[in-house]
Amino acid sequence: MERDLSKLSSTTFDLAIIGGGITGVSVAYEAASRGLSVVLVEKGDFGQATSSATSKLIHGGLRYLKNLEFGLVRESLTERKVWENIAPNFVYPIPFMVPTYKSFKSNRFILMMGMILYDVLSYDKGWTWDRSKKLPLHKSIGAKKTQMLESCVKTKGLTGSSIYYDCQNINPERLTLAVLKSAVEHGAKAANYAKVTSLSLSNGIVKGVNVEDLISGKTHNINAKLTINCAGPWADIVLNNAMSGSANHHIRRSEGIHIITPKLCNSHAVTMMTKSGRHVMVMPWRNYSLIGTTDKEYTGNPDSYRVSKESIQSLIDDVNENYGCRKLKYEDVVFAYGGLRPLVDDQTEGSYDSSRKYEIFDNKKDGLNGLITIEGGKYTTSRRLAFQAMRMVKRKLNVKLSKSRTKSEYLSSCQIGSMDQFLSDLQKQYPEFSVQTINYIGKNYGTESHQVFHLAQQDKLLAEVVSHDGSMLAEVVYAIQYEMAQSLTDVLFRRTGIGTLGYPGDDIFAKVVAICKQHLKWDEQTTNNEINRAMSIFKLP
Ligand SMILES: Cc1cc2nc3c(=O)[nH]c(=O)nc-3n(C[C@H](O)[C@H](O)[C@H](O)COP(=O)(O)OP(=O)(O)OC[C@H]3O[C@@H](n4cnc5c(N)ncnc54)[C@H](O)[C@@H]3O)c2cc1C
Repeated sequence: MERDLSKLSSTTFDLAIIGGGITGVSVAYEAASRGLSVVLVEKGDFGQATSSATSKLIHGGLRYLKNLEFGLVRESLTERKVWENIAPNFVYPIPFMVPTYKSFKSNRFILMMGMILYDVLSYDKGWTWDRSKKLPLHKSIGAKKTQMLESCVKTKGLTGSSIYYDCQNINPERLTLAVLKSAVEHGAKAANYAKVTSLSLSNGIVKGVNVEDLISGKTHNINAKLTINCAGPWADIVLNNAMSGSANHHIRRSEGIHIITPKLCNSHAVTMMTKSGRHVMVMPWRNYSLIGTTDKEYTGNPDSYRVSKESIQSLIDDVNENYGCRKLKYEDVVFAYGGLRPLVDDQTEGSYDSSRKYEIFDNKKDGLNGLITIEGGKYTTSRRLAFQAMRMVKRKLNVKLSKSRTKSEYLSSCQIGSMDQFLSDLQKQYPEFSVQTINYIGKNYGTESHQVFHLAQQDKLLAEVVSHDGSMLAEVVYAIQYEMAQSLTDVLFRRTGIGTLGYPGDDIFAKVVAICKQHLKWDEQTTNNEINRAMSIFKLP
Protein backbone atom coordinates (compact mmCIF):
# COMPACT_ATOMS: atom_id res chain seq x y z
CA MET A 1 0.00 0.00 0.00
CA GLU A 2 1.33 3.39 -1.00
CA ARG A 3 0.93 6.53 1.12
CA ASP A 4 1.31 9.69 -0.94
CA LEU A 5 -1.01 12.51 0.11
CA SER A 6 0.41 15.04 -2.33
CA LYS A 7 -0.72 12.88 -5.27
CA LEU A 8 -4.28 12.87 -3.96
CA SER A 9 -4.79 16.61 -4.49
CA SER A 10 -4.55 16.43 -8.27
CA THR A 11 -7.71 14.36 -8.88
CA THR A 12 -11.40 14.72 -8.15
CA PHE A 13 -12.58 11.48 -6.57
CA ASP A 14 -16.13 10.16 -6.62
CA LEU A 15 -15.92 9.54 -2.87
CA ALA A 16 -13.78 10.85 -0.03
CA ILE A 17 -14.18 8.77 3.11
CA ILE A 18 -13.37 10.15 6.54
CA GLY A 19 -12.25 7.42 8.96
CA GLY A 20 -10.40 4.14 8.52
CA GLY A 21 -12.30 1.97 10.99
CA ILE A 22 -14.26 -1.03 9.77
CA THR A 23 -17.12 1.20 8.55
CA GLY A 24 -14.87 3.44 6.44
CA VAL A 25 -12.84 0.62 4.92
CA SER A 26 -16.00 -1.39 4.16
CA VAL A 27 -17.53 1.59 2.37
CA ALA A 28 -14.25 2.08 0.49
CA TYR A 29 -14.22 -1.58 -0.60
CA GLU A 30 -17.88 -1.69 -1.62
CA ALA A 31 -17.54 1.55 -3.60
CA ALA A 32 -14.19 0.83 -5.26
CA SER A 33 -15.19 -2.70 -6.23
CA ARG A 34 -18.29 -1.30 -7.92
CA GLY A 35 -16.37 1.13 -10.06
CA LEU A 36 -16.14 4.37 -8.06
CA SER A 37 -12.91 6.27 -7.50
CA VAL A 38 -12.32 6.43 -3.77
CA VAL A 39 -9.97 8.04 -1.28
CA LEU A 40 -9.97 7.22 2.43
CA VAL A 41 -8.22 9.27 5.10
CA GLU A 42 -7.68 8.24 8.71
CA LYS A 43 -6.39 10.57 11.40
CA GLY A 44 -4.56 7.84 13.29
CA ASP A 45 -3.81 4.33 12.14
CA PHE A 46 -6.33 2.21 10.28
CA GLY A 47 -8.63 0.45 12.73
CA GLN A 48 -7.02 2.20 15.71
CA ALA A 49 -10.23 3.15 17.49
CA THR A 50 -13.48 1.25 18.13
CA SER A 51 -12.71 -1.33 15.47
CA SER A 52 -9.77 -2.67 17.46
CA ALA A 53 -11.59 -2.47 20.80
CA THR A 54 -14.17 -5.16 20.13
CA SER A 55 -14.96 -8.44 21.86
CA LYS A 56 -13.46 -10.05 18.73
CA LEU A 57 -16.81 -11.53 17.78
CA ILE A 58 -18.57 -11.90 14.48
CA HIS A 59 -21.96 -12.58 15.89
CA GLY A 60 -25.69 -12.39 15.54
CA GLY A 61 -26.09 -10.99 19.03
CA LEU A 62 -28.32 -13.44 20.93
CA ARG A 63 -29.14 -10.78 23.49
CA TYR A 64 -30.77 -8.46 20.91
CA LEU A 65 -33.57 -11.04 20.69
CA LYS A 66 -34.62 -9.75 24.10
CA ASN A 67 -35.38 -6.39 22.43
CA LEU A 68 -37.28 -8.28 19.68
CA GLU A 69 -34.80 -6.94 17.09
CA PHE A 70 -35.30 -9.93 14.78
CA GLY A 71 -34.29 -8.01 11.65
CA LEU A 72 -30.99 -6.91 13.19
CA VAL A 73 -30.24 -10.42 14.44
CA ARG A 74 -31.07 -12.06 11.10
CA GLU A 75 -28.95 -9.50 9.24
CA SER A 76 -26.03 -10.11 11.61
CA LEU A 77 -26.36 -13.88 11.28
CA THR A 78 -26.33 -13.60 7.49
CA GLU A 79 -23.26 -11.38 7.64
CA ARG A 80 -21.59 -13.79 10.08
CA LYS A 81 -21.69 -16.42 7.37
CA VAL A 82 -20.38 -13.95 4.79
CA TRP A 83 -17.35 -13.22 7.00
CA GLU A 84 -16.73 -16.95 7.50
CA ASN A 85 -16.69 -17.30 3.72
CA ILE A 86 -14.71 -14.26 2.62
CA ALA A 87 -12.22 -14.21 5.51
CA PRO A 88 -11.72 -17.87 6.48
CA ASN A 89 -8.33 -17.36 8.08
CA PHE A 90 -9.67 -14.72 10.50
CA VAL A 91 -13.14 -16.00 11.44
CA TYR A 92 -13.73 -19.24 13.36
CA PRO A 93 -16.69 -20.89 15.09
CA ILE A 94 -16.59 -20.58 18.87
CA PRO A 95 -18.93 -22.32 21.34
CA PHE A 96 -20.70 -20.13 23.87
CA MET A 97 -21.72 -21.59 27.19
CA VAL A 98 -24.55 -19.99 29.16
CA PRO A 99 -24.85 -21.61 32.60
CA THR A 100 -28.35 -21.73 34.06
CA TYR A 101 -29.26 -21.42 37.72
CA LYS A 102 -32.35 -21.80 39.84
CA SER A 103 -32.82 -18.04 39.95
CA PHE A 104 -35.38 -16.40 37.62
CA LYS A 105 -33.04 -14.24 35.52
CA SER A 106 -31.33 -17.16 33.93
CA ASN A 107 -34.53 -19.14 33.47
CA ARG A 108 -33.73 -22.15 31.38
CA PHE A 109 -36.98 -22.10 29.40
CA ILE A 110 -36.63 -18.47 28.23
CA LEU A 111 -33.03 -19.13 27.27
CA MET A 112 -33.98 -22.25 25.35
CA MET A 113 -36.65 -20.36 23.39
CA GLY A 114 -34.08 -17.69 22.53
CA MET A 115 -31.63 -20.31 21.30
CA ILE A 116 -34.24 -22.07 19.17
CA LEU A 117 -35.08 -18.72 17.60
CA TYR A 118 -31.37 -18.03 17.06
CA ASP A 119 -31.06 -21.37 15.25
CA VAL A 120 -34.16 -20.64 13.17
CA LEU A 121 -32.86 -17.20 12.19
CA SER A 122 -29.56 -18.76 11.10
CA TYR A 123 -31.17 -21.66 9.21
CA ASP A 124 -28.56 -21.30 6.42
CA LYS A 125 -25.51 -21.45 8.70
CA GLY A 126 -24.48 -24.84 7.30
CA TRP A 127 -23.84 -23.54 3.79
CA THR A 128 -20.32 -22.25 4.25
CA TRP A 129 -17.59 -22.39 1.58
CA ASP A 130 -15.16 -24.11 3.95
CA ARG A 131 -16.86 -27.08 5.61
CA SER A 132 -14.90 -26.55 8.83
CA LYS A 133 -16.81 -23.29 9.34
CA LYS A 134 -20.22 -24.94 9.71
CA LEU A 135 -21.88 -24.01 13.00
CA PRO A 136 -23.75 -26.74 14.90
CA LEU A 137 -27.21 -26.25 16.42
CA HIS A 138 -27.46 -25.30 20.07
CA LYS A 139 -27.69 -27.95 22.78
CA SER A 140 -28.36 -28.16 26.50
CA ILE A 141 -26.23 -30.09 28.95
CA GLY A 142 -26.52 -30.94 32.63
CA ALA A 143 -24.75 -29.41 35.61
CA LYS A 144 -22.14 -32.15 35.92
CA LYS A 145 -21.04 -31.95 32.30
CA THR A 146 -21.04 -28.15 32.47
CA GLN A 147 -18.60 -28.26 35.38
CA MET A 148 -16.48 -30.85 33.67
CA LEU A 149 -16.14 -28.74 30.50
CA GLU A 150 -15.60 -25.39 32.22
CA SER A 151 -14.45 -25.37 35.80
CA CYS A 152 -14.76 -21.58 35.97
CA VAL A 153 -18.56 -21.90 36.21
CA LYS A 154 -20.04 -21.21 39.66
CA THR A 155 -21.55 -24.41 41.02
CA LYS A 156 -24.04 -23.17 43.65
CA GLY A 157 -27.56 -23.60 42.26
CA LEU A 158 -26.26 -24.65 38.82
CA THR A 159 -28.89 -26.52 36.80
CA GLY A 160 -26.86 -26.98 33.61
CA SER A 161 -25.99 -24.88 30.60
CA SER A 162 -26.95 -24.10 27.04
CA ILE A 163 -24.30 -24.16 24.36
CA TYR A 164 -24.67 -22.28 21.13
CA TYR A 165 -22.23 -21.16 18.44
CA ASP A 166 -21.09 -17.83 17.11
CA CYS A 167 -17.79 -16.79 15.51
CA GLN A 168 -14.58 -15.33 16.81
CA ASN A 169 -12.63 -12.79 14.80
CA ILE A 170 -9.11 -13.68 15.89
CA ASN A 171 -7.60 -10.41 14.71
CA PRO A 172 -9.98 -7.49 14.11
CA GLU A 173 -7.03 -5.18 13.41
CA ARG A 174 -5.70 -7.29 10.57
CA LEU A 175 -9.19 -8.07 9.27
CA THR A 176 -9.90 -4.34 9.01
CA LEU A 177 -6.62 -4.04 7.12
CA ALA A 178 -7.61 -6.91 4.80
CA VAL A 179 -10.83 -5.07 3.89
CA LEU A 180 -8.80 -1.92 3.21
CA LYS A 181 -6.31 -3.86 1.08
CA SER A 182 -9.26 -5.26 -0.90
CA ALA A 183 -10.40 -1.68 -1.56
CA VAL A 184 -6.88 -0.70 -2.61
CA GLU A 185 -6.72 -3.65 -5.01
CA HIS A 186 -9.77 -2.12 -6.67
CA GLY A 187 -8.01 1.22 -7.04
CA ALA A 188 -8.90 3.00 -3.79
CA LYS A 189 -6.29 5.34 -2.30
CA ALA A 190 -5.76 5.48 1.43
CA ALA A 191 -3.61 7.31 3.95
CA ASN A 192 -3.25 6.93 7.69
CA TYR A 193 -2.20 9.81 9.97
CA ALA A 194 -4.20 12.10 7.69
CA LYS A 195 -6.64 14.17 9.70
CA VAL A 196 -9.62 15.89 8.16
CA THR A 197 -9.47 19.36 9.67
CA SER A 198 -12.47 20.73 7.78
CA LEU A 199 -14.80 20.05 4.92
CA SER A 200 -14.20 21.96 1.75
CA LEU A 201 -17.40 23.94 1.21
CA SER A 202 -18.64 26.01 -1.68
CA ASN A 203 -22.14 27.57 -1.43
CA GLY A 204 -23.21 24.99 1.11
CA ILE A 205 -22.03 22.13 -1.09
CA VAL A 206 -19.34 19.83 0.24
CA LYS A 207 -16.62 19.50 -2.39
CA GLY A 208 -14.18 17.33 -0.48
CA VAL A 209 -11.97 17.54 2.58
CA ASN A 210 -9.04 19.52 3.88
CA VAL A 211 -6.47 17.21 5.38
CA GLU A 212 -3.45 17.66 7.60
CA ASP A 213 -0.69 15.13 7.09
CA LEU A 214 0.23 14.42 10.72
CA ILE A 215 3.61 13.01 9.66
CA SER A 216 4.91 15.78 7.39
CA GLY A 217 2.79 18.57 8.87
CA LYS A 218 1.67 19.62 5.36
CA THR A 219 -1.94 20.35 4.47
CA HIS A 220 -3.78 19.07 1.40
CA ASN A 221 -7.10 19.68 -0.24
CA ILE A 222 -8.77 16.55 -1.59
CA ASN A 223 -11.62 17.07 -4.04
CA ALA A 224 -14.54 14.66 -4.13
CA LYS A 225 -18.04 14.66 -5.57
CA LEU A 226 -19.33 13.08 -2.37
CA THR A 227 -17.83 12.88 1.12
CA ILE A 228 -18.74 10.14 3.58
CA ASN A 229 -18.29 10.72 7.26
CA CYS A 230 -17.37 7.36 8.82
CA ALA A 231 -15.67 8.86 11.85
CA GLY A 232 -17.38 6.55 14.37
CA PRO A 233 -17.39 8.17 17.82
CA TRP A 234 -16.06 11.35 16.19
CA ALA A 235 -18.80 11.59 13.53
CA ASP A 236 -20.66 14.40 15.29
CA ILE A 237 -17.41 16.28 15.92
CA VAL A 238 -16.63 16.20 12.19
CA LEU A 239 -20.13 17.57 11.55
CA ASN A 240 -19.91 20.22 14.24
CA ASN A 241 -16.59 21.40 12.78
CA ALA A 242 -18.19 21.66 9.36
CA MET A 243 -21.16 23.62 10.67
CA SER A 244 -19.33 25.77 13.21
CA GLY A 245 -21.08 24.01 16.07
CA SER A 246 -24.63 24.37 14.77
CA ALA A 247 -25.13 20.70 13.81
CA ASN A 248 -27.95 19.08 15.71
CA HIS A 249 -26.36 15.63 15.57
CA HIS A 250 -25.26 14.17 18.82
CA ILE A 251 -23.83 10.70 19.13
CA ARG A 252 -24.11 8.96 22.45
CA ARG A 253 -20.94 7.14 23.32
CA SER A 254 -20.61 4.20 25.61
CA GLU A 255 -17.35 2.90 26.96
CA GLY A 256 -16.54 -0.78 26.68
CA ILE A 257 -13.34 -2.29 28.00
CA HIS A 258 -11.72 -5.72 27.89
CA ILE A 259 -9.00 -7.25 30.00
CA ILE A 260 -6.67 -10.12 29.18
CA THR A 261 -5.64 -12.53 31.92
CA PRO A 262 -4.07 -15.96 32.16
CA LYS A 263 -6.47 -18.66 31.04
CA LEU A 264 -9.67 -19.03 33.11
CA CYS A 265 -11.84 -20.99 30.68
CA ASN A 266 -11.12 -23.86 28.29
CA SER A 267 -12.65 -23.79 24.83
CA HIS A 268 -15.99 -22.08 25.54
CA ALA A 269 -16.83 -18.43 25.79
CA VAL A 270 -18.55 -18.57 29.15
CA THR A 271 -21.29 -15.97 29.55
CA MET A 272 -22.74 -14.82 32.85
CA MET A 273 -25.27 -12.20 33.75
CA THR A 274 -24.30 -9.67 36.40
CA LYS A 275 -26.66 -8.47 39.13
CA SER A 276 -27.33 -5.33 37.07
CA GLY A 277 -28.49 -7.48 34.13
CA ARG A 278 -25.36 -7.04 31.96
CA HIS A 279 -23.57 -9.92 30.31
CA VAL A 280 -19.92 -10.63 31.00
CA MET A 281 -17.97 -13.07 28.85
CA VAL A 282 -14.77 -14.95 29.55
CA MET A 283 -13.49 -16.04 26.15
CA PRO A 284 -10.49 -18.06 25.07
CA TRP A 285 -8.04 -16.09 22.92
CA ARG A 286 -4.41 -16.92 22.11
CA ASN A 287 -4.26 -19.29 25.13
CA TYR A 288 -5.30 -16.46 27.44
CA SER A 289 -8.72 -15.29 28.59
CA LEU A 290 -10.29 -12.25 27.05
CA ILE A 291 -12.84 -10.78 29.43
CA GLY A 292 -15.42 -8.18 28.59
CA THR A 293 -17.13 -6.02 28.41
CA THR A 294 -18.38 -3.00 30.26
CA ASP A 295 -20.99 -0.63 28.97
CA LYS A 296 -21.01 2.79 30.57
CA GLU A 297 -22.04 6.08 29.09
CA TYR A 298 -19.01 8.24 28.26
CA THR A 299 -19.57 11.96 27.96
CA GLY A 300 -16.02 13.26 27.49
CA ASN A 301 -14.12 14.04 24.29
CA PRO A 302 -13.32 10.79 22.44
CA ASP A 303 -9.72 11.96 21.94
CA SER A 304 -9.22 12.03 25.71
CA TYR A 305 -10.65 8.57 26.34
CA ARG A 306 -8.39 6.15 28.27
CA VAL A 307 -9.14 2.91 30.09
CA SER A 308 -9.46 3.74 33.77
CA LYS A 309 -8.43 1.78 36.86
CA GLU A 310 -12.08 1.79 38.01
CA SER A 311 -13.27 0.16 34.78
CA ILE A 312 -10.66 -2.58 35.06
CA GLN A 313 -11.53 -3.15 38.71
CA SER A 314 -15.26 -3.31 37.94
CA LEU A 315 -14.65 -6.04 35.37
CA ILE A 316 -12.50 -7.96 37.85
CA ASP A 317 -15.30 -7.62 40.43
CA ASP A 318 -17.83 -8.92 37.88
CA VAL A 319 -15.71 -12.02 37.31
CA ASN A 320 -15.11 -12.59 40.99
CA GLU A 321 -18.82 -12.25 41.80
CA ASN A 322 -20.17 -14.35 38.96
CA TYR A 323 -17.62 -17.03 38.18
CA GLY A 324 -16.46 -19.87 40.34
CA CYS A 325 -12.81 -19.83 39.36
CA ARG A 326 -9.97 -18.56 41.49
CA LYS A 327 -10.25 -14.93 42.54
CA LEU A 328 -8.84 -12.57 39.94
CA LYS A 329 -6.46 -9.88 41.13
CA TYR A 330 -5.48 -6.62 39.46
CA GLU A 331 -1.96 -8.00 38.95
CA ASP A 332 -3.39 -10.87 36.87
CA VAL A 333 -4.35 -8.45 34.12
CA VAL A 334 -1.69 -8.59 31.40
CA PHE A 335 -3.33 -6.06 29.10
CA ALA A 336 -6.43 -3.89 28.93
CA TYR A 337 -8.03 -2.04 26.07
CA GLY A 338 -11.15 0.00 25.64
CA GLY A 339 -13.19 1.81 23.08
CA LEU A 340 -16.28 3.86 22.56
CA ARG A 341 -19.41 2.54 20.96
CA PRO A 342 -20.98 5.13 18.75
CA LEU A 343 -24.63 4.47 19.49
CA VAL A 344 -27.47 5.73 17.41
CA ASP A 345 -29.34 8.08 19.69
CA ASP A 346 -32.72 6.47 20.18
CA GLN A 347 -33.39 7.91 23.62
CA THR A 348 -33.06 4.55 25.35
CA GLU A 349 -32.41 4.79 29.06
CA GLY A 350 -28.87 3.62 29.80
CA SER A 351 -26.58 2.67 26.97
CA TYR A 352 -26.72 -1.10 27.47
CA ASP A 353 -30.25 -1.25 26.08
CA SER A 354 -29.44 1.00 23.14
CA SER A 355 -29.80 -0.56 19.74
CA ARG A 356 -26.75 -1.48 17.69
CA LYS A 357 -28.58 -0.59 14.50
CA TYR A 358 -27.02 1.88 12.12
CA GLU A 359 -28.01 5.05 10.34
CA ILE A 360 -27.09 6.38 6.92
CA PHE A 361 -27.86 10.07 6.93
CA ASP A 362 -27.94 12.51 4.02
CA ASN A 363 -26.55 15.75 5.46
CA LYS A 364 -28.34 17.75 2.78
CA LYS A 365 -30.99 18.06 5.50
CA ASP A 366 -28.41 19.97 7.56
CA GLY A 367 -27.58 22.23 4.63
CA LEU A 368 -24.49 20.18 3.74
CA ASN A 369 -25.24 18.74 0.33
CA GLY A 370 -22.52 16.35 -0.78
CA LEU A 371 -22.02 14.79 2.64
CA ILE A 372 -23.33 11.50 3.99
CA THR A 373 -22.84 10.46 7.61
CA ILE A 374 -22.86 6.85 8.71
CA GLU A 375 -23.37 6.25 12.40
CA GLY A 376 -23.64 3.25 14.66
CA GLY A 377 -23.56 -0.41 13.63
CA LYS A 378 -21.54 -3.45 14.56
CA TYR A 379 -18.29 -4.74 13.15
CA THR A 380 -20.27 -7.79 12.00
CA THR A 381 -22.71 -5.77 9.88
CA SER A 382 -20.22 -3.34 8.33
CA ARG A 383 -20.26 -4.96 4.89
CA ARG A 384 -24.05 -4.80 4.76
CA LEU A 385 -23.99 -1.21 5.98
CA ALA A 386 -21.57 -0.31 3.16
CA PHE A 387 -23.82 -2.07 0.68
CA GLN A 388 -26.85 -0.09 1.92
CA ALA A 389 -24.89 3.15 1.78
CA MET A 390 -24.26 2.60 -1.94
CA ARG A 391 -27.98 3.06 -2.63
CA MET A 392 -27.76 6.64 -1.43
CA VAL A 393 -24.37 7.15 -3.12
CA LYS A 394 -25.77 5.94 -6.43
CA ARG A 395 -28.72 8.28 -6.19
CA LYS A 396 -26.65 11.27 -5.19
CA LEU A 397 -23.97 10.76 -7.82
CA ASN A 398 -26.56 9.76 -10.39
CA VAL A 399 -24.42 6.88 -11.62
CA LYS A 400 -24.91 3.21 -12.31
CA LEU A 401 -22.83 0.87 -10.19
CA SER A 402 -21.74 -2.60 -11.13
CA LYS A 403 -23.20 -5.50 -9.14
CA SER A 404 -21.92 -5.89 -5.60
CA ARG A 405 -19.35 -8.66 -5.24
CA THR A 406 -18.26 -8.14 -1.65
CA LYS A 407 -20.14 -11.13 -0.32
CA SER A 408 -19.09 -13.49 -3.07
CA GLU A 409 -15.35 -12.79 -3.31
CA TYR A 410 -12.59 -13.55 -0.83
CA LEU A 411 -10.96 -10.57 0.82
CA SER A 412 -7.39 -9.71 -0.07
CA SER A 413 -5.00 -12.35 1.36
CA CYS A 414 -7.94 -14.62 2.30
CA GLN A 415 -8.29 -16.72 -0.87
CA ILE A 416 -8.29 -20.04 1.00
CA GLY A 417 -10.72 -22.87 0.16
CA SER A 418 -9.90 -25.04 3.16
CA MET A 419 -8.04 -23.75 6.20
CA ASP A 420 -6.94 -27.23 7.23
CA GLN A 421 -5.44 -27.90 3.81
CA PHE A 422 -3.85 -24.44 3.67
CA LEU A 423 -2.08 -24.87 7.03
CA SER A 424 -0.94 -28.36 6.20
CA ASP A 425 0.47 -27.11 2.84
CA LEU A 426 2.34 -24.33 4.67
CA GLN A 427 3.84 -26.89 7.01
CA LYS A 428 5.16 -28.89 4.06
CA GLN A 429 6.50 -25.78 2.32
CA TYR A 430 8.24 -24.33 5.38
CA PRO A 431 9.37 -27.33 7.46
CA GLU A 432 11.97 -25.27 9.32
CA PHE A 433 9.24 -23.35 11.19
CA SER A 434 7.36 -24.70 14.23
CA VAL A 435 3.71 -25.76 14.04
CA GLN A 436 2.81 -22.78 16.25
CA THR A 437 4.49 -20.36 13.87
CA ILE A 438 2.87 -21.95 10.82
CA ASN A 439 -0.54 -21.70 12.48
CA TYR A 440 -0.02 -18.16 13.77
CA ILE A 441 1.33 -16.75 10.52
CA GLY A 442 -1.06 -18.80 8.36
CA LYS A 443 -4.12 -17.58 10.22
CA ASN A 444 -3.10 -13.95 10.63
CA TYR A 445 -1.52 -13.39 7.20
CA GLY A 446 -3.43 -15.84 4.99
CA THR A 447 -1.93 -16.00 1.52
CA GLU A 448 0.56 -13.25 2.47
CA SER A 449 2.20 -15.76 4.82
CA HIS A 450 4.63 -16.63 2.05
CA GLN A 451 6.14 -13.13 2.05
CA VAL A 452 6.51 -13.23 5.84
CA PHE A 453 8.21 -16.64 5.72
CA HIS A 454 10.47 -15.46 2.88
CA LEU A 455 11.62 -12.48 4.97
CA ALA A 456 12.43 -14.88 7.83
CA GLN A 457 14.28 -17.23 5.48
CA GLN A 458 16.39 -14.39 4.05
CA ASP A 459 17.43 -13.06 7.46
CA LYS A 460 17.69 -15.62 10.27
CA LEU A 461 17.42 -12.88 12.91
CA LEU A 462 13.89 -12.19 11.67
CA ALA A 463 12.92 -15.85 12.20
CA GLU A 464 13.07 -15.32 15.96
CA VAL A 465 9.79 -16.30 17.59
CA VAL A 466 8.53 -13.56 19.88
CA SER A 467 5.33 -14.90 21.39
CA HIS A 468 4.30 -18.21 22.96
CA ASP A 469 1.96 -18.81 20.01
CA GLY A 470 4.53 -18.37 17.28
CA SER A 471 4.65 -14.80 16.00
CA MET A 472 7.99 -13.74 14.47
CA LEU A 473 10.14 -10.63 14.14
CA ALA A 474 9.77 -10.87 10.34
CA GLU A 475 6.25 -9.48 10.80
CA VAL A 476 7.72 -6.17 11.95
CA VAL A 477 9.58 -5.70 8.67
CA TYR A 478 6.55 -6.86 6.70
CA ALA A 479 4.36 -4.29 8.49
CA ILE A 480 6.68 -1.44 7.62
CA GLN A 481 7.53 -2.44 4.05
CA TYR A 482 4.11 -3.56 2.86
CA GLU A 483 1.42 -2.40 5.28
CA MET A 484 1.95 1.32 5.84
CA ALA A 485 2.93 0.93 9.52
CA GLN A 486 4.27 4.34 10.60
CA SER A 487 4.77 4.00 14.32
CA LEU A 488 5.83 1.57 17.00
CA THR A 489 2.24 1.29 18.20
CA ASP A 490 1.02 0.44 14.67
CA VAL A 491 3.55 -2.38 14.61
CA LEU A 492 2.98 -3.68 18.14
CA PHE A 493 -0.78 -3.42 18.41
CA ARG A 494 -2.31 -3.49 14.92
CA ARG A 495 -0.03 -5.19 12.37
CA THR A 496 1.60 -7.83 14.56
CA GLY A 497 0.20 -9.31 17.76
CA ILE A 498 3.45 -8.70 19.65
CA GLY A 499 1.88 -6.11 21.95
CA THR A 500 -1.69 -7.34 22.22
CA LEU A 501 -0.90 -9.76 25.05
CA GLY A 502 0.83 -7.06 27.03
CA TYR A 503 4.47 -6.03 27.33
CA PRO A 504 6.56 -8.66 25.53
CA GLY A 505 9.65 -8.21 27.77
CA ASP A 506 12.70 -5.94 27.46
CA ASP A 507 14.61 -8.11 25.01
CA ILE A 508 11.84 -8.51 22.42
CA PHE A 509 10.69 -4.91 22.87
CA ALA A 510 14.24 -3.66 22.20
CA LYS A 511 14.50 -5.80 19.06
CA VAL A 512 11.18 -4.50 17.70
CA VAL A 513 12.26 -0.92 18.42
CA ALA A 514 15.62 -1.48 16.68
CA ILE A 515 13.95 -2.82 13.52
CA CYS A 516 11.48 0.07 13.45
CA LYS A 517 14.28 2.59 14.02
CA GLN A 518 16.30 1.18 11.14
CA HIS A 519 13.45 0.79 8.63
CA LEU A 520 11.56 3.97 9.48
CA LYS A 521 14.82 5.97 9.79
CA TRP A 522 14.06 7.43 13.22
CA ASP A 523 16.47 9.69 15.07
CA GLU A 524 17.00 9.33 18.86
CA GLN A 525 14.30 11.83 19.75
CA THR A 526 11.66 10.12 17.57
CA THR A 527 12.68 6.71 18.88
CA ASN A 528 12.25 7.87 22.49
CA ASN A 529 8.88 9.42 21.73
CA GLU A 530 7.73 6.20 20.10
CA ILE A 531 8.93 4.14 23.07
CA ASN A 532 7.14 6.42 25.52
CA ARG A 533 3.90 6.25 23.57
CA ALA A 534 3.99 2.45 23.40
CA MET A 535 4.87 2.13 27.09
CA SER A 536 1.93 4.35 28.05
CA ILE A 537 -0.38 1.82 26.35
CA PHE A 538 1.25 -1.20 27.98
CA LYS A 539 1.16 0.33 31.44
CA LEU A 540 -2.07 -0.36 33.30
CA PRO A 541 -3.62 2.67 35.02
C1 LIG B 1 -16.27 -2.65 23.72
C2 LIG B 1 -16.82 -2.93 22.37
C3 LIG B 1 -16.99 -4.22 21.95
C4 LIG B 1 -17.50 -4.47 20.68
N1 LIG B 1 -17.56 -5.76 20.27
C5 LIG B 1 -18.03 -6.04 19.04
C6 LIG B 1 -18.00 -7.36 18.58
O1 LIG B 1 -17.50 -8.26 19.25
N2 LIG B 1 -18.53 -7.61 17.37
C7 LIG B 1 -19.09 -6.63 16.60
O2 LIG B 1 -19.60 -6.94 15.53
N3 LIG B 1 -19.06 -5.33 16.99
C8 LIG B 1 -18.55 -5.01 18.18
N4 LIG B 1 -18.48 -3.73 18.60
C9 LIG B 1 -18.97 -2.67 17.71
C10 LIG B 1 -17.90 -2.31 16.67
O3 LIG B 1 -16.64 -2.29 17.23
C11 LIG B 1 -18.18 -0.95 16.04
O4 LIG B 1 -19.49 -0.92 15.56
C12 LIG B 1 -17.25 -0.64 14.90
O5 LIG B 1 -15.92 -0.88 15.22
C13 LIG B 1 -17.41 0.81 14.49
O6 LIG B 1 -16.47 1.06 13.48
P1 LIG B 1 -16.31 2.50 12.89
O7 LIG B 1 -15.43 2.39 11.71
O8 LIG B 1 -17.65 3.11 12.66
O9 LIG B 1 -15.63 3.35 14.06
P2 LIG B 1 -14.09 3.43 14.46
O10 LIG B 1 -13.44 2.12 14.43
O11 LIG B 1 -14.04 4.19 15.73
O12 LIG B 1 -13.47 4.27 13.30
C14 LIG B 1 -13.67 5.66 13.14
C15 LIG B 1 -12.36 6.22 12.67
O13 LIG B 1 -12.52 7.58 12.27
C16 LIG B 1 -11.29 8.23 12.53
N5 LIG B 1 -11.50 9.67 12.53
C17 LIG B 1 -12.19 10.40 13.43
N6 LIG B 1 -12.12 11.72 13.14
C18 LIG B 1 -11.37 11.82 12.01
C19 LIG B 1 -10.91 12.91 11.24
N7 LIG B 1 -11.21 14.19 11.56
N8 LIG B 1 -10.13 12.67 10.15
C20 LIG B 1 -9.79 11.38 9.81
N9 LIG B 1 -10.20 10.31 10.54
C21 LIG B 1 -10.98 10.53 11.61
C22 LIG B 1 -10.89 7.69 13.89
O14 LIG B 1 -9.52 7.85 14.16
C23 LIG B 1 -11.30 6.22 13.79
O15 LIG B 1 -10.24 5.37 13.44
C24 LIG B 1 -17.91 -3.42 19.84
C25 LIG B 1 -17.74 -2.12 20.26
C26 LIG B 1 -17.16 -1.86 21.50
C27 LIG B 1 -16.89 -0.47 21.92
